[in-house]
Amino acid sequence: MTGVITGAVVAIARLQYYDADGTLSTDSSMGSLSLTSIVLISAAVGGQFGLMPDILEPAKSGNWRHRKFFHSYALLALLVWFTYQTETNLGLDDLVRHFFTVAAAGYVSHLLLDSRTPAGLPWV
Ligand SMILES: [Zn+2]
Repeated sequence: MTGVITGAVVAIARLQYYDADGTLSTDSSMGSLSLTSIVLISAAVGGQFGLMPDILEPAKSGNWRHRKFFHSYALLALLVWFTYQTETNLGLDDLVRHFFTVAAAGYVSHLLLDSRTPAGLPWV
């Protein structure tokens, strides 16, 4: 659920950031999609990627230390770095940059919430 909200919020924030006059609108390759479509798709993508860490490393009964690399601070740092590289690479299509950032934000929201639990996250 947090990934859904994160995806929608990041989509709106990103569109706001890239719009020169400060009003929400779509631009370049996203022009064929309406703002509502982009926000809804972003919410779905953020929601799916918010579930991804527990799909990759499921918590089963008796394996409370299920959090490994895909639940680690190392992956969180890699995702933040890679998202920055993607977001600042203007050679990439805007749609690709947008949805990569939304997906990464959904994933990172899961890691940040898990990091606040007693089990926490491993460094690697
Ligand atoms: Zn988790």
